[in-house]
Amino acid sequence: MTKTIQHTEGLVDRFGRRVKYVRLSVTDRCDFRCVYCMTEKMTFLPRDQVLTLEEIGRVASVFVDLGVEKVRLTGGEPLVRRDVMQLVDYIGTLGLKDFTMTTNGSQLPRFAKSLKDSGMHRLNISLDSLDAEKFKRITRNGELRKVIDGIDAAQQAGFQRIKLNTVIMRGRNDDEILELIEFVRQRGIDISFIEEMPLGEVSDHGREETFCSSDEVKDVIEQRYSLTAIKQQTGGPSRYYAMQDSPSRIGFISPHSHNFCGDCNRVRVTAEGRLLLCLGNEHSIDLRPILRANPTDNEPLRQAIIEAMDLKPERHHFTTDGDVQIVRFMNMTGG
Ligand code: SAM
Ligand code: SF4
Repeated sequence: MTKTIQHTEGLVDRFGRRVKYVRLSVTDRCDFRCVYCMTEKMTFLPRDQVLTLEEIGRVASVFVDLGVEKVRLTGGEPLVRRDVMQLVDYIGTLGLKDFTMTTNGSQLPRFAKSLKDSGMHRLNISLDSLDAEKFKRITRNGELRKVIDGIDAAQQAGFQRIKLNTVIMRGRNDDEILELIEFVRQRGIDISFIEEMPLGEVSDHGREETFCSSDEVKDVIEQRYSLTAIKQQTGGPSRYYAMQDSPSRIGFISPHSHNFCGDCNRVRVTAEGRLLLCLGNEHSIDLRPILRANPTDNEPLRQAIIEAMDLKPERHHFTTDGDVQIVRFMNMTGG
């Protein structure tokens, strides 16, 4: 894969926000069907509509050339994409400050060591329940044991600051908040609790009935632990808190209750090459035709990305009334 060499002043939007962080979705496919993310019967993209690993590598390299310091690979489940390690190895050579992946953990027993060897810095692993049956109900076909083995494998491979991502849903897993906290404390890892977002129309439940705000989750935790806000944040949407007697940090990602758009430094690229300027809006441009029309020249891609910054909207407008506001599912968006 070719690396672009020109350096510029970077990517800045109309509101003066500097884009330093890109989330790349490497596939829309997944071995799970989490109830808040997908419907039971999903239709996935035909393969020719999905960017090749080389095309994703070109996108990453142009963003790095434009000043991006942090790349997260996501999906769908990034580790079910065939030969994904070729891409991971390539991005590992781009000199990023922070190279990370969000994964459901099921394939980590196989991949954790190679990910670490490739130069990946951190992992976010999604885990919504510690009860095998509940876990199966939420993921529809996930096996809790595999994910726990995956977390073990990531810790053994030497990953530091592993973070669990947990979507809390009323009546599904809101009774496990303290158990999950004990789990991360025992392992010395972090956790972020995420408010469910209205992306795609899910078949399992009305989102308004399961919505649980970060403040409610925090109240439950504070019945046992006092939480102190951590000033230094990580450049992502989480607001972090510390406990007095543990290195584990507790984060809250609260798209509804604590709007984080003001300091947004992120953009996303979907598996089909659509550059999304905001998670909660449709503003986007299609990079795939530009990549395919210019297979050996990254300059048109670079120009398109610079110009796209003007499309980044000021904020999202999610509501909790159950309305579908964005028809894309999270597996398409790249969480
Ligand atoms: N498959 C990987 C995983 O589950 O970690 C990566 C992709 S997944 C779309 C990324 C994150 O988005 C996961 O932590 C998942 O829980 C979260 N997510 C998916 N749909 C969501 C929704 N509607 N609202 C909030 N978070 C969601
Ligand atoms: Fe798959 Fe992740 Fe979506 Fe669950 S949240 S269905 S693991 S992409």
